[in-house]
Amino acid sequence: MATATEKPAKKVARPKIRQTQCFIGGKWLDAASGKTFDTIHPATEEVIAKVAEGDKADIDLAVDAARAQFDGGEWSRMNARERGRLMYKLADLIEEEADELAALETLDNGKPINDSRNADIPLVIDCIRYYAGWADKIQGSTIPVSGDYFCYTRREPVGVVGQIIPWNFPALMAAWKWGPALATGCTIVMKPAEQTPLTCLRMAHLAQKAGIPDGVINVVPGYGPTAGAALVAHPGVDKIAFTGEGATAKIIQRSALETMKRVTFELGGKSPNVVFADADLDAAIHGAHFALYFNQGQCCCAGSRLFVQDKIHDEFVDRLQDLNKSRRIGDPFDPETEQGPQVDQAQFDKILKYVEYGKEDGAKLVNGGARHGDKGYFIEPTMFTGVKDDMRIAKEEIFGPVMSVLKFSDVDEIARRANATNDGLAAAVWTRDIAKAHRFANKLRAGTVWINCYDVFDAAAPFGGFKESGLGRELGEAGLAAYTELKTVTVAMN
Ligand code: ADP
Repeated sequence: MATATEKPAKKVARPKIRQTQCFIGGKWLDAASGKTFDTIHPATEEVIAKVAEGDKADIDLAVDAARAQFDGGEWSRMNARERGRLMYKLADLIEEEADELAALETLDNGKPINDSRNADIPLVIDCIRYYAGWADKIQGSTIPVSGDYFCYTRREPVGVVGQIIPWNFPALMAAWKWGPALATGCTIVMKPAEQTPLTCLRMAHLAQKAGIPDGVINVVPGYGPTAGAALVAHPGVDKIAFTGEGATAKIIQRSALETMKRVTFELGGKSPNVVFADADLDAAIHGAHFALYFNQGQCCCAGSRLFVQDKIHDEFVDRLQDLNKSRRIGDPFDPETEQGPQVDQAQFDKILKYVEYGKEDGAKLVNGGARHGDKGYFIEPTMFTGVKDDMRIAKEEIFGPVMSVLKFSDVDEIARRANATNDGLAAAVWTRDIAKAHRFANKLRAGTVWINCYDVFDAAAPFGGFKESGLGRELGEAGLAAYTELKTVTVAMN
């Protein structure tokens, strides 16, 4: 998710919050219980909106709406090119409101406006457009079977999909999930994260304005163990697409099994970022900094295990430390800000607990390690050196601005250590020796490997985890396939 350099000139104004209810069958509704929950601005801890707290009754209504649209409505039967046209229209409307949506994301999540303007929202638009282009290109094949038969396959929409997303890239996660679902003709019930429901609700409004029929996209804000669990258990849902923690995915998997729902999971990681002594050091230092601190360290693919070859280790760490110290923390509405607050108190507490674990386990704290300021969930960019593979900060996902630096000496050793984890979402390698880079990339048990770069995402490039980092892939053609059922049709020709 490379951030561009274009910045708005002055401090950005707070946006209006317009949509706070459930969006079901094209209507904005309070939760059946009448309950609401607070969403806050993480930089000030103030309540910015009261949002409908959906639960089972609201999920039931939303699944009914999605089911009715899928089984009897126009969406999945529509000329596929027309479906694509409506998706392009949605992308255009998001683009027209890009600045406002970016500000809404910054308000709800706390991420710097420079990131939401130059990374999150442009990637949302690109993802919807990419999948709009697929809508009329979803094809089956003809199969040469024995005997006097004609055999072909069709790729049909999987049906009603339940989509559960996290808070770290709220609008972008919605786009990753809506894109392939809409292109294939599925209908959607989405449960956004309780910390960050606002951009998803706004995008639902824009989808309706674009002419996407009622019932195609339904959004039920609420908590995971209530609204989320009801969505997973609902027999009217054909597939669950989930991004979040591995422990939650295991709960979801068990429940989804009861009705044999299809599942795709995009989960966490402890991604190795490996710097060989022959790397372009400037690029690798900036890459290592970006790989971990981007988005306040709240990335499932964060380069949180930084392995540096012994020959360059000390110089590398010195220079990286300088860069870390220069990182501008502050008001996320200031375009100069590089690091905003963590999303909430729970994450803030968890991260600082890991800082204590790092110290207790004997790692050396070289910068950061404390709260920044006295209001909001800000944490200084933090780096530990002398980290050993079995320390808690090297093994467990922290999801915050805490870097663990580990030393290595040779290529075989580092491949084994990089893979010595149950996760396998992403990895990176920095070297000028391109053959070594490719050989090393082949050895890594990870769904994405970046060579001399980090966090380079594209809607066309599949993303997902090996091992416990996930199931299935999102984005690209692989992401599309996960929203279809393959039907084989065989015709007697005599
Ligand atoms: P995070 O630490 O990123 O919040 P979670 O896995 O807890 O990770 O949350 C990701 C999403 O999963 C959120 O939308 C959350 O509400 C939802 N969720 C949490 N628990 C459950 C559950 N038991 N069933 C379904 N969804 C859940």
